[in-house]
Amino acid sequence: MPTGAVIVGAGQAGFQTAASLRTEGYSESIVLIGEETHIPYQRPPLSKGFPLGTQDLDSIELRPRAFYQDHRIELHTGESVVAIERAERRVRLASGRHIPYQTLILATGSRNRILACIGGELDGVLYLRSLDEARVIKERLKDAQEIVVIGGGFIGLELAAVARSLGKSVTVLEVLPRLMSRVVAPIISDFFRELHMSRGVRVICGASVSEIAGSKGKVREVRANDDTVYSADLVLVGVGVMPNTELAREAGLRVANGIAVDEYLQTDDEHIYAIGDCAEHPCSFARARVRLESVQNAADQAQCVAATIAGRRELYRALPWFWTDQFDIKLQMGGISLGYERIATRGAPESRKFSVFYFKEGRLLAVDSINRPLDHILARKLIEAGAPLSPEQAADEGVDLRKLIGASKQHR
Ligand SMILES: Cc1cc2nc3c(=O)[nH]c(=O)nc-3n(C[C@H](O)[C@H](O)[C@H](O)COP(=O)(O)OP(=O)(O)OC[C@H]3O[C@@H](n4cnc5c(N)ncnc54)[C@H](O)[C@@H]3O)c2cc1C
Repeated sequence: MPTGAVIVGAGQAGFQTAASLRTEGYSESIVLIGEETHIPYQRPPLSKGFPLGTQDLDSIELRPRAFYQDHRIELHTGESVVAIERAERRVRLASGRHIPYQTLILATGSRNRILACIGGELDGVLYLRSLDEARVIKERLKDAQEIVVIGGGFIGLELAAVARSLGKSVTVLEVLPRLMSRVVAPIISDFFRELHMSRGVRVICGASVSEIAGSKGKVREVRANDDTVYSADLVLVGVGVMPNTELAREAGLRVANGIAVDEYLQTDDEHIYAIGDCAEHPCSFARARVRLESVQNAADQAQCVAATIAGRRELYRALPWFWTDQFDIKLQMGGISLGYERIATRGAPESRKFSVFYFKEGRLLAVDSINRPLDHILARKLIEAGAPLSPEQAADEGVDLRKLIGASKQHR
């Protein structure tokens, strides 16, 4: 006898699917299976407040344990799904047990990309994805003095800011010519480079790591290709993630840069959906198929799929947004700047409050706002509404963005 919904992965997307199914009035059984031993928690604090000591475990759990029982969500932690048996419509757990499904939701997330270099296995070379890893980093930060962060993306820079705030000597090594270059314009990269340097972080761009060396099994230094040596008693690596697609691939589902889904987030099996970090979906804002790694994407896709499963079939068309906190600076990003041709800046970087508007063929694609939360909110509305906005208007602080949203609503 098939159960109702089975969700693989008890992270942000898996948790939200279970919770939203109940909000949508879904009355069948819900089984939520996660290989981590913890109840679902938020990952963003793991590189921010948690290692800094301003957020504890209770504050990062998505819901208290009682929530699952109260909402008839059967939560299995510390359990891995090892196979999807599509013909029988059931999943197999590592323990050998089978769980049948009517609908299966794959929310398996992503895992850290491992740095392929000599010395990567030394004690003191750490990665951050899970609460367990965050606990180790928090503990090891206490005694470490010289930290080398490999990777100048969001996670690396957030950890660098935390370590520096704890009084450590910190060096960031980024292989590309500028920070966070995959997603932000040079003006934003420059701003963050100056921010980190002004706080005493050494930032080296264009630095390719060739080897991590140690003594007695413990990390001691990091060597770059140009033979520069950076001494380190702790190395934090943040060089990106890879989607967990193996289950789907082995079950014969289509996989590209993630488990391939349509605009309803459905795989090529009508009984199986994929959401969050592990899924690649058609995004109307990017006008491309994308795989996004953000809380917004995981939570909104979960809500969309829950509505569909509960009988209110819904197209996924939420606007992507993201944030990062480094020192006292909050960067908020709305939309997707992929393929942008032109930018306009509103406000001055020197004021530490400015926004960058990204345009392509006259269309507003995305806005990155530094310490300007109102710009971020309005920009999301402008992009969603497809409101006409020129780069000149965006740059002119005399132009009231609120009025443009109003005008575009009337126009539509
Ligand atoms: C340190 C850190 C900081 C971040 N900061 C931000 C931020 O500031 N803003 C932002 O928007 N986003 C941030 N993110 C990204 C955001 O947390 C992720 O995009 C989001 O968690 C994705 O949710 P998900 O459910 O798809 O994947 P996950 O949250 O990774 O959950 C997937 C879960 O599935 C489990 N799993 C995988 N395979 C199996 C299996 N076969 N059987 C059982 N369980 C399985 C995994 O163990 C994992 O627990 C951050 C991420 C990290 C790691």
